[in-house]
Amino acid sequence: KKEALKRRGLAFLRSKEALVSNARKTMQAAGAKRLIAVIKANAYGHGDTWAARTLYKELQVKDFAVATVEEGLRVRKAMSEEDVAILLLGVQPYELAGEMAEQGLATIAGSFDWLVKAKGILVEEGTKRPLAIHLAVDTGMGRVGAKTEAELSSMLDFVRQDEHFDLAGVMTHFATADEKKQAYYDQQLADFMHMVTDLAIPRKYWHLANSGSALFHSDQIPTDTIRVGAALYGFNPAFGAYESPVELEAVGQLVGRVWAVHPLLKGESLSYGATYTAKQDQWVGTVPIGYADGWKRSLSGMTVLVNGTKQRVLGRVTMDQIVISLPGPVPVNTEVTFIGQDADEKISIEEVADFAKTIPHEILTGISDRVPRVNI
Ligand code: PLP
Repeated sequence: KKEALKRRGLAFLRSKEALVSNARKTMQAAGAKRLIAVIKANAYGHGDTWAARTLYKELQVKDFAVATVEEGLRVRKAMSEEDVAILLLGVQPYELAGEMAEQGLATIAGSFDWLVKAKGILVEEGTKRPLAIHLAVDTGMGRVGAKTEAELSSMLDFVRQDEHFDLAGVMTHFATADEKKQAYYDQQLADFMHMVTDLAIPRKYWHLANSGSALFHSDQIPTDTIRVGAALYGFNPAFGAYESPVELEAVGQLVGRVWAVHPLLKGESLSYGATYTAKQDQWVGTVPIGYADGWKRSLSGMTVLVNGTKQRVLGRVTMDQIVISLPGPVPVNTEVTFIGQDADEKISIEEVADFAKTIPHEILTGISDRVPRVNI
């Protein structure tokens, strides 16, 4: 941490204990025995291989989900154990079917047509390993998947009868699990249940519960498996709508250092647009964080913590630097907390997201590669 703050003035601190404890609590809340840990987008900014290795070692988690082939390949490189399954959740180009099979990446299949084209590639390339398939059912998210039982049935038969494929799962994704729209949720669940039971697809293949389901609809999860991201990282995906039934702990904290301290005199302005003007003489500090680090321009005016006091981002956030108010002429290198706890004060990721009129997922996945990740 010291080195990162010394060289870069910025660090995203991540807690292994918090990750493990959140995973454990979420599984307990959902009555789940198997966790498909969603570690796409670099584990929501926390580091995908770090999250995967930690969950594998501490909780024997063996299923990981990412969004793209590149993410899958990176995680596979770090997790080469035979018993580790890596699932690609997004629609993939069928042209990559051979590569996915050879590299041991499972993928969702969203349509019969996709399977036919993927098979063509597997045959053409003479792939030696079968491609593991999770059949996607679109019950209301509208992104990908069979919409009718007839289509799911033909996909199922095609996969089962072809040696180029292995049936590994059947899934759907909820659109409103973290919102007060119970009817929509119930309909999605009912449609999925109807199709998989009609087609007699064994329960061990089903997975559908995201964080919202696991935390807020735990009595409606029809399987032992949950497929969760947000809750692992310790934030409530339903901020403002539902209270979390378990106490989640933020895995990440974003901290930095004041690298320049100076007075701003009454009437002087600062940053682009000169939008902030001092009403009285005050002390201000410059911190090396900007929108290129993921501290969005819409966080101009957000609260930050210095020496346990609430301070404020003054004027506009620039690409690489911001200016903040200070409680006084603090020494250069004084620590600043953007997300996390400082003495009795705390700024949660939910509060930061709320201020930026977005969701925690977007803030966390936006923390760029320029910010060193530090294990605490
Ligand atoms: N499953 C799918 C298909 C997803 O796209 C996502 C995330 O967006 C998840 C599961 C995990 O959702 P959450 O982070 O809300 O748990």
